[in-house]
Amino acid sequence: MVNFYLSTPLMWNHPIEEIFQTAQKYEMGLEIFHQQMEYQRVSIEELQELIYKYRREVFVHAFSWDLNLCSLQRPVRDTALEQTKKSINFAHTLGAKDVTIHPGRMSIPLEESNYDNFMYDSMKQLMEYADRLEQSISFEIMEPVGKEFVTDRRIMKRIADDLWEKMYLTLDLAHCQNEEMIIDHLEQLPRIRKLHISNHIKGKYHTPIGVGDLDFQVLKPYLTASGLPIVIEGMDQSKELELFLENLNYLEEENWK
Ligand SMILES: [Zn+2]
Repeated sequence: MVNFYLSTPLMWNHPIEEIFQTAQKYEMGLEIFHQQMEYQRVSIEELQELIYKYRREVFVHAFSWDLNLCSLQRPVRDTALEQTKKSINFAHTLGAKDVTIHPGRMSIPLEESNYDNFMYDSMKQLMEYADRLEQSISFEIMEPVGKEFVTDRRIMKRIADDLWEKMYLTLDLAHCQNEEMIIDHLEQLPRIRKLHISNHIKGKYHTPIGVGDLDFQVLKPYLTASGLPIVIEGMDQSKELELFLENLNYLEEENWK
C-alpha cells in the first residue's frame, strides 16, 4: 500500500508509536493531524525520532477545527493565520511532503462573495509564508455543510484569482456529492497534491470506503490512473482500529495496491 497514507485520527486514542507501527505494518505513510498531536501532547522531537526510526513519509493536516481564515472578525482571522503558520512550521520541521489547509467558512450566511477578499488575503499570506520556507501546502475543497462555501473547484478558483496558477489542492473525495463531481475535479483541477478517501451516506461524512453513496468500483480506475497519494481518513476513538481495518479490508478485496 505504498501510495496510501494513514490519517492519524483513525487512531485518535492510540499512543503515537503504535500509529507509526501500524503504518509500517501496512507499508503506508502517515497524515499527521497537528491538532491531535497537540491534544495528545506528542512533542515534535518525538515525531522526528519516530519518522526517522520507522522511515515513514508524512503529510501534515494543519490546525483547522476552531479556526476561520475568512471570518468577518479580524482578530479571528489573525488567529487562524497565526495557527496555520504554526502548522506550516511544524510540517517543515518534520520534513512533511505537504500541509493540507482548510479554507475558511462564512461567519453568517451573507452572499458568498462577501468572504472572497478575506479568504484571498489569507491564502496569499500563507502561500508567501510557505514559499519562504519552501514548504509545500495545499488548500482543501470542503463538503457542502453548515457555513462552508469553498465547496467546488470553481469557487476555489474564483477566490484564488491570480494565486490560482500557483495553488495546490487537496481533493477530499467524500466532500464531493457524487462520482461525476470527483471525476470532473480529477480531470479539471491542474494541481492536486493528494486525495483524501472515505465515503458519505445520508449526510454523514467520512464513513467507511465500501459503504455509502460513492461507488469506488466506478472511481478506482480514475484514482489509480491519477497516481496521486491517497490518504485514508476518518475519526475513530475506539481502541480496536475497526474503521481503519474495515477500509483496509475493502481496499484489499478490491485489489487496490
Ligand atoms: Zn481536512
